[in-house]
Amino acid sequence: MKKRVRFAPSPTGPFHIGSARVALFNYLFAKKNKGDFILRIEDTDKTRSKREYELDIIRSIKWLNINYDEGVTEESEKGSYGPYRQSERGEIYKKYLQKLLQEDKAYPCFCSAEELEKERKKQLERGEAPRYSGKCAQKKNEKKGDFVIRFRSPKEESTTFNDLIRGKVSFDNNEIGDFVIGKSDFSALYNFVVVIDDHEMEISHVIRGEDHISNTPRQILIQKALGINTPYYAHLPLILGPDKSKLSKRHAAVSVQEYKEMGYLPEAMINFISFLGWNPGGEREIYSLEEIIEEFKLEKCKKSGAVFNIDKLDSINGYYIRQKDDNELAEMCVPFLTESGFLEQKEGKYFNSQGKQFSLEDIAKTVSICKERMKNLSEITKLADYFFAPVDYDKEMLRWKNMSDEEIYDSLKRGEEAVLEIDKWDMESIEKTLIERAGSDKGSFLWPFRVALSGKKASAGPFEISWVLGRDEVLKRLRKAKKKL
Ligand code: GLU
Repeated sequence: MKKRVRFAPSPTGPFHIGSARVALFNYLFAKKNKGDFILRIEDTDKTRSKREYELDIIRSIKWLNINYDEGVTEESEKGSYGPYRQSERGEIYKKYLQKLLQEDKAYPCFCSAEELEKERKKQLERGEAPRYSGKCAQKKNEKKGDFVIRFRSPKEESTTFNDLIRGKVSFDNNEIGDFVIGKSDFSALYNFVVVIDDHEMEISHVIRGEDHISNTPRQILIQKALGINTPYYAHLPLILGPDKSKLSKRHAAVSVQEYKEMGYLPEAMINFISFLGWNPGGEREIYSLEEIIEEFKLEKCKKSGAVFNIDKLDSINGYYIRQKDDNELAEMCVPFLTESGFLEQKEGKYFNSQGKQFSLEDIAKTVSICKERMKNLSEITKLADYFFAPVDYDKEMLRWKNMSDEEIYDSLKRGEEAVLEIDKWDMESIEKTLIERAGSDKGSFLWPFRVALSGKKASAGPFEISWVLGRDEVLKRLRKAKKKL
C-alpha cells in the first residue's frame, strides 16, 4: 500500500513552530517511504478561519522547503483527491452523516445548551467526567427546530490503538459518551470531517500532535461505524519551553514568520525543528534536509515533551550563516540593512544616509568580517552599523587603561602615519604594518585605533575594520578621533 500522509492545519492564527514540526515530520516520513504528502486545510470553523492565515501556512512551509505533492496552493490546488479545503467538501460529509443517521448509528439531539450545561455541572459535582447523558438517544424525536447530530458511542469495552510512537493506547468507551458530529444543516464537526477526509484521501498514516490523542478513539469509533479502515496513528510529543510548560509566546517567538523576519535560515530551522522530539542518535547536530530524510524513523521519535532551546537554534543558525558564500550572505543581509535605514537601494545601487555609495562587494567584505559573530541575519545591523553610518562615541572610550589625552593623541597620530605607509591595502599588509607600529604595548596603540574606527567597546578587530573601510575612511576617522582630544 502506498504511504500517504497529510498535514491538516486549521488556518486560525499565525503559523506556529509546533505546526511546522508536524508538517516537517509528515514530509520526512513521506519522503523516506516514497509516499505522498498532502496539505489539507481544515477550515470548518468559519468564524476563526482566515484566508490570510491559510496563505501564511502555504508560504511558511514553502519557505522551509517542505514541498507537498497534493493540496491547497497559493493560487488554487493540486492533486486528484480534492477539494483539499474542508469548507468545500460539505456535500461529501453530508452523504456520510445521512448514512449514519439512516443506520441509526447517529441520532438527532434537541437538548438545549442550558440543559446540557446543567447536566455537565451535575456530573462535575459528582466527580464524573462530563459526557452526554443520552437523553435523546432512545426517543424517536419528533421535535422540530435546530438539533445536533450525535454519534452513538458503544458503552462497553475500550478503544485501543497501537500508536507508532507511544505504543498501546487505550480509552474507555464509556468515558467518551455520544459526541456531536454534525449540525441540523448537515455541516460536520472536526472528528467527523477528519475521518471522512482521511478515508477519502486514502491516508495511510496520521502523524499529528499529542493534543489530538484523545480525538483518536472517537475517530476510530466513527471509522468502525462506517466500516472503513483505520489508518496508523503517530502522536508527536508536545514542544515545551525551558520551564517544561507548553511552548508559548512567554518563552520565545512562536510563529515561523517571526523567525524569518529575525533572519533565521530555512535550512537551520529545518535542522533545529527536526530535532524537536526526534534524534538520529549520536552527538552530531548539523544535518541537511537530505540527511534527515535518510535517517528519519518515526519509531525514533520520543514520547516525552521536546524542549525548545533557542541557544541551540542560534548555534545551528550561526553554523549555516558561516557556511554561506560572502556575496550570497551580503545579498541576504541587504534587506535587513535597508529595513533599518543603514542603506537605501536606488537603481540597483546602495547608498548610506550620507549619500556614500556601497557596492555589493563592499557589503560582502563587511559581512565577511561579521559573520563569525552572527546568530541571525538581523544582527548584521548591530554588528556592522559603523561601516554604514558615521560613528559617534564618548572621548573616554578611546582611553586604554590610564593613558593621558596626550598619549592617546600621540597613539592615533602614529596610527595615521602607519596607515599612510601601508603600500598594499590587503589584510596581511595592514596587519603587518600596524603590528610593527604598535611595538610592545599593543593595547595602547590598537585600542584607540580600533575605537576611532568603530566607536565601540566591542567590534571586529582593527585590521579587519581597516581593510573594509579603506585607507581614506580610516584616515578620516582617525583624524576625527584626534579632534576629540
Ligand atoms: N486541524 C487540526 C489542527 O490544526 C489537525 C487535525 C489532525 O491532524 O487530525 O490541529
